[in-house]
Amino acid sequence: MKNNEIPAYAGIKNYINGEFTNPKSNQWIDNYNPSNGEVYGQIPNSSKDDVEQAYQSAKSAFPSWSQTTLEERSRILIKISELLEANLDRFAEAESKDNGKPVSLAKMVDIPRAASNFRFFGNAITQFASESHESVGQNAVNYTLRQPIGVVGCISPWNLPLYLFTWKIAPAIAAGNCVVAKPSEVTPMTAYLLGEICNEAGLPKGVLNIVHGLGTTTGQAIVEHPNIKAISFTGGTATGAHIAKVAVPMFKKLSLELGGKNPNIIFADCDYEDMLNTTVRSSFANQGQICLCGSRIFVEETIYEKFKTDFVEKVKGLKVGHPSEADTNIGALVSKPHIEKVKNYIEIAKEEGATILCGGNEVTVKGYENGYYLQPTVIEVKTDDCRVNQEEIFGPVVTIMPFKTEDDVLEMANKVKYGLSATLWTNNLKRTMRMSNQLQAGIVWVNTWMMRDLRTPFGGVKASGVGREGGFEALRFFTEAKNICIKY
Ligand code: NDP
Repeated sequence: MKNNEIPAYAGIKNYINGEFTNPKSNQWIDNYNPSNGEVYGQIPNSSKDDVEQAYQSAKSAFPSWSQTTLEERSRILIKISELLEANLDRFAEAESKDNGKPVSLAKMVDIPRAASNFRFFGNAITQFASESHESVGQNAVNYTLRQPIGVVGCISPWNLPLYLFTWKIAPAIAAGNCVVAKPSEVTPMTAYLLGEICNEAGLPKGVLNIVHGLGTTTGQAIVEHPNIKAISFTGGTATGAHIAKVAVPMFKKLSLELGGKNPNIIFADCDYEDMLNTTVRSSFANQGQICLCGSRIFVEETIYEKFKTDFVEKVKGLKVGHPSEADTNIGALVSKPHIEKVKNYIEIAKEEGATILCGGNEVTVKGYENGYYLQPTVIEVKTDDCRVNQEEIFGPVVTIMPFKTEDDVLEMANKVKYGLSATLWTNNLKRTMRMSNQLQAGIVWVNTWMMRDLRTPFGGVKASGVGREGGFEALRFFTEAKNICIKY
């Protein structure tokens, strides 16, 4: 980090009151390109004062925005969505440069999904009706008002930067709130570009304010702000627990979308080819840096050896390469500290007596020798309670082991502290029903993975979080329900 230095390039600034501003602190943080390990820019290291400025801007915008008609809010959100689609290439390249993910993935998934978030909530707000109840025999009628909260805070992680940032912002502003938002310090670029799009779409000044900086300073200042009434957070479980400690005594509304260590359970009666191809994707998409990745693979013992051979062969065929190359399957991991953390887990696996079936090493990509590349790694574990099978690694590393019975695998699947998602491969209907009822997870996919309908609730149980996002759940989170009882 370099202090008191204006970035040498046309750098990232905060987006406050519709304008791009330097941080009051005049402090900057280096921003790395994970594909080559080089610093390619700097971002503001925003202080409490910057967060206060963003809050004041949001507060001033709130009276007017909260009274803006639903049709007008909807029109602006849909316009943002259209502009994102029109700028697909620019956003996808920026996302890839910041995060290391293949440009092709950003083009196919991240940016289209960010556009869908705005389109979906632009439409959903016009359908978000509240209930009324006649108190029969008492000459009274009750109705529920769903009122925006005021100024809300949105804090997002680096793995799906714009996708998750907009997953919070879109419902927050659709519901009539004004926002102070912070993207991850390691992937700030597309959030920065979003400010330009919001201006072009005619979003009134101050409705969305974006402050860049470190979680422990900028993020903490958002969480601690006495008048930011709700916090929607996606990130690690430890950070979520810390945020809860600060926010709960302040009686803030809190949505926590946290870590995962998701089981991928494969029965012999599944559609094998579909399972195999999807399992490669659910293990290594986005370099395995998706909270929903199926990082613990349990395979029924009758097909275990066959699966092991076929899976390892497919994984060895994945190409690790520069994110801009069209045939790259696995790009760079997000940062130097992160690749070190993932490599350390591979060492832990060896110490625990597990077998590395493939991968396990860094990859040198010609021309980008300082980038953060790692082979996709499959670890055969002897027991489910080893560390690599219990702790979130969040990289291109999966564990596999066989199981005998449905009861055995259910017990192992549920024996982690997390409960975000689970995937089940079987064609047995009764088993599907039994297991999906009993798996401790917010989402269960049967014979598929990461299929999302934006109307459905999204979130986890246990250490994977508190609350739900998605569809009307998100609009409920970003509004306060008020009951009004009228006696006539
Ligand atoms: P972190 O918890 O480190 O950070 C998430 C965000 O919180 C970042 O913007 C970070 O800023 C900020 N932050 C850090 N400390 C604080 C603080 N004290 N107060 C307020 N904000 C803070 O997570 P990662 O970015 O490393 O993301 C990976 C994690 O996110 C994984 O555990 C993954 O499972 C989880 N995740 C969960 C999802 C879900 O929907 N359940 C989806 C995607 C990821 P900075 O970057 O500057 O540190």
